Amino acid sequence: MNNLLEETETVKLQDPTTKYPAPPFEKQQEIPVPGEEKDLYPKADHGEESYRGTDKLKGRKAVVTGADSGIGKAVAIAFAREGADVVIAYLSDKEDEDARDTARWVEEAGRKAILFKGDLSKAENCQKLVATAVDGLGHIDLLVNNAAYQMAQEGIEDISNDQWDHTYATNIHSMFYLSKAAIPHMPPGSSIINTTSVNAYDPTPLLLDYASTKGAIQNFTSNLAQSLLQNGKGIRVNAVAPGPIWTPLIPSTMPNYKEFGDNTPMKRPGQPIEVSPIYVFLASEDASYIAGATIPVTGGRVTI
Ligand code: NAD
Ligand code: MG
Repeated sequence: MNNLLEETETVKLQDPTTKYPAPPFEKQQEIPVPGEEKDLYPKADHGEESYRGTDKLKGRKAVVTGADSGIGKAVAIAFAREGADVVIAYLSDKEDEDARDTARWVEEAGRKAILFKGDLSKAENCQKLVATAVDGLGHIDLLVNNAAYQMAQEGIEDISNDQWDHTYATNIHSMFYLSKAAIPHMPPGSSIINTTSVNAYDPTPLLLDYASTKGAIQNFTSNLAQSLLQNGKGIRVNAVAPGPIWTPLIPSTMPNYKEFGDNTPMKRPGQPIEVSPIYVFLASEDASYIAGATIPVTGGRVTI
């Protein structure tokens, strides 16, 4: 047995409703997209001080998109502490500092970190990301399709055709391009994990374009899962559906984030560290019979 706690220690019991900050949150100045970690007050918890790995992903080669900040950052840190090397993909120069911080945590865990900056709404950049991962790590065991775009709008008339196209290209087209490019480099036992949202079940009218991409991601996930198993690839595909999570996406795209998380039974948003363990689980051997599933992490919001 490999116990991390001493014989006499116990795991602290905590009430989940009071474990992390709850609204109202202070509205900061207008924040342009993509938001940065420094835009978040209070700061988000990515497990920097708390996540303890137990070799669940020892030796795995991972690609995580949107890994500079938010959920992707927490996933990259957890994967590295479980023993994986990580390609950290992100969008823009503005996020260089966030991405370097993620890389620092990955390296501190003793793993290799490779940074990749580029717009994944474009097929050629998705192919470049896969080529970078294969060059740097040899192959890919874990692909986490997590990057996304959203911008709240009052009604359908406020969503420009460009916004519609960009949301779809970023959120779902990239998932197709990346999966298609990566699968030939993924051995049996590998796993693809897609980030969908509670919006796939209970869409908010402020996010018509975004919410509908999340529904598409869920359908894509269950379909690709069946297809890869039936075609003998031995690759599992699953999705995670977060509820409201405290990340830079929120203050940069939501008008009323002061009350963010209030619409959950826990009356607070989740933190990235409360989502990342599910990605670890789905990526690990513990989930060997789970495919085509979506796991909700919603603070009690209903997803049936
Ligand atoms: P985030 O802003 O920290 O992460 C999103 C990342 O996506 C950004 O860091 C950015 O680098 C990347 N990105 C955006 N557009 C891109 C593009 N065109 N090309 C390449 N990269 C691009 O926010 P987050 O909340 O951690 O988001 C991660 C995922 O979680 C997204 O799929 C989001 O839809 C999903 N999600 C978030 C919430 C929430 O409340 N925060 C809820 C449900 C689902
Ligand atoms: Mg970011």
